[in-house]
Amino acid sequence: MRPQVLFPLFAPTTSLSGVGPRNAALLEKAAGGRVVDLLWHLPIGLIDRRFSPKIADAPDGAMATLVVTVGKHRPPPRNRPRLPYKVTCTDETGSMDLVFFNVKGDYVAKALPEGEERAVSGKIEHFNDRVQMTHPDHIVPLEDIDKLPRLEPVYGLTAGLTLKTLGRIMAEAIALTPPVDEWLDPAGRERMQWPAWRDAVVSLHAPASHDDLQPTVPPRMRLAYDELLASQIALLLVREAYRSLPGVATMGDGGLRAKCIAALPYHLTASQADAVAEITGDMAKDSRMLRLLQGDVGSGKTVVAFLAMLAAVEAGRQAVLMAPTEILARQHMATIAPLVEKLGLRLAVLTGRDKGKARQSMLDGLASGEIPIAVGTHALFQDDVAFRDLALAVIDEQHRFGVHERLMLTSKGRGTDVLVMTATPIPRTLQLAAFGDMDVSRLIEKPAGRKPVDTRTIPSSRLDDVVAAVGRALEKGAKVYWVCPLVDESELVDLAAATDRHAQLSERFGAMRVGLVHGRMKGADKDAMMAAFAGGAVDLLVATTVIEVGVDVPAATVMVIEHAERFGLAQLHQLRGRVGRGDKPSTCLLIYYGSPGETARARLSIMRETEDGFRIAEEDLRLRGGGEVLGTRQSGLPDFRLADLSVHGDLLAQARDDARLLLERDPKLESPRGRAVRVLLYLFERDVAIRYLRSG
Ligand code: ADP
Ligand code: MG
Repeated sequence: MRPQVLFPLFAPTTSLSGVGPRNAALLEKAAGGRVVDLLWHLPIGLIDRRFSPKIADAPDGAMATLVVTVGKHRPPPRNRPRLPYKVTCTDETGSMDLVFFNVKGDYVAKALPEGEERAVSGKIEHFNDRVQMTHPDHIVPLEDIDKLPRLEPVYGLTAGLTLKTLGRIMAEAIALTPPVDEWLDPAGRERMQWPAWRDAVVSLHAPASHDDLQPTVPPRMRLAYDELLASQIALLLVREAYRSLPGVATMGDGGLRAKCIAALPYHLTASQADAVAEITGDMAKDSRMLRLLQGDVGSGKTVVAFLAMLAAVEAGRQAVLMAPTEILARQHMATIAPLVEKLGLRLAVLTGRDKGKARQSMLDGLASGEIPIAVGTHALFQDDVAFRDLALAVIDEQHRFGVHERLMLTSKGRGTDVLVMTATPIPRTLQLAAFGDMDVSRLIEKPAGRKPVDTRTIPSSRLDDVVAAVGRALEKGAKVYWVCPLVDESELVDLAAATDRHAQLSERFGAMRVGLVHGRMKGADKDAMMAAFAGGAVDLLVATTVIEVGVDVPAATVMVIEHAERFGLAQLHQLRGRVGRGDKPSTCLLIYYGSPGETARARLSIMRETEDGFRIAEEDLRLRGGGEVLGTRQSGLPDFRLADLSVHGDLLAQARDDARLLLERDPKLESPRGRAVRVLLYLFERDVAIRYLRSG
């Protein structure tokens, strides 16, 4: 249950006075739907209204607050409503005009009664030798002058929401912020000279200078740290809960593995062999394994996973491999099925598409144990899927699965070990943020015989040359991917672009040879198209980014990416990884449109320079910088509200150590600090982790 002290913060914004459905919708767009979302919506700028000159001294362009006496109102003539509404104001040094356009109703008349004094704040303009101010930001009677913000924070807005309205609502939200019991270690907090939590929130929303807006000021560091600490504690709690579940030692005799390795048409690389040893070593222990297998695209993770699965089978137990998409599940199956057959084993495939009798017979086989190995998608979680004795769950591209799903899968077995595979080369800092302290095996070298991918960037003005080059490559028997622009967020628009390109290329190279694959296709159609491409009927495959992850057609040697300037680095890298998988040299052509901005140019040049996924990941993090979350979501890394890992990354290790120490001393979070930490977990919505306190 959420602690009572946080109730006001988790109430909808409509709980604030002056927030009705209309404003709530705007706030939702700009910041979020709850009061706490407003707190996390930090200022991005600052307006200084402290300058308070007399009219005669007010310089053009200055932001200023003036005290004036309201004079004559001069509304536009009725027949010329487009002319401005002017109000003359004076002080002892001169006169000025307040200027309004499109005045509806009587708000000007009300705000500026003739003969009274008002403080007005806004930008000074000199127009035809007169001082004027167009649409003052604030007009207040002198008795309310204290309410006029002298230093006004600027927030990210949305159309229809003014800074004034948001500022007023923010003030209310901030006033609701409760003091909380300190969850940070007092000594640590003192060393960093961080303010108390409430003070940090208040001061971030009341910047006194532009320096206060920097992400490195103590109150901001504190909130970033709070968020990182919450996430590290949550990860630890889940992990500890997981580890404390009883495990089973799974030890095979190595027979199947030896047979499999002998049947492979290649030798394992050193890091593949190491990874297999580490994984099977973990499995042989009677605690639960939770290990990350990290390897760049094409590094050969599937076979490593498969060998681990065989260790389970040797021990008379079962193993599953779960992929996030149908295509990937089928792909793994294609790698695994021939090996399984050679070993004389049975394999079950469970995706959303398998129904009826065939599915039932697989379910029966898994339940009885006759089928030792299953490959599939989310469909593996379904209630009617039962295993006789599930020893190992391998989860590919885990970031698309939640913690919850992971635990669900393991609940289908007895002491089930978990191996998570990811092709996203996650920088070390981010790895800690995403997975906490998982054990990691890394595949560092690409399988032998792979050639580097020749990567070039080409302006769209040379599109014809690219098409001609693709034509020449096709003549020589190449297989070509043509990835279509990510036009906008809408899949429909993206699809239209891909369809157009497909039509053009079909006309040029013959409809039979050119295929199209996109996210809106039915699973079976997608598979059929991929199979046609892998098989030989189709040589040129136009695709939206559905081919991004994991797809393996070793014969493909050319990758064309249109509008490459719109893709993130991680995505470009993933896409390029679709070629260079066979023994022939490959080419990647990055077509850009217009003149890309600085960051986009930097991305393209990194792509030209290197194929090292870890280097690319680090660069990606660096380039993303300044809190731009784009790409984080794509890569499935946690989305922090306040912590920006390109700035606060150094705090992460500290948060991890802090979390560890705290849970060592107070594993059930029962001490006063532990209780405060529970509030922290709720505050950052990591409270699912609290559930595991009980089970632990
Ligand atoms: P990823 O790590 O991207 O999932 P895969 O497991 O799909 O990589 O492997 C990519 C391709 O490389 C597959 O066709 C696989 O058979 C092949 N492969 C795996 N290991 C080796 C190796 N040691 N030598 C040569 N080819 C390998
Ligand atoms: Mg793979």
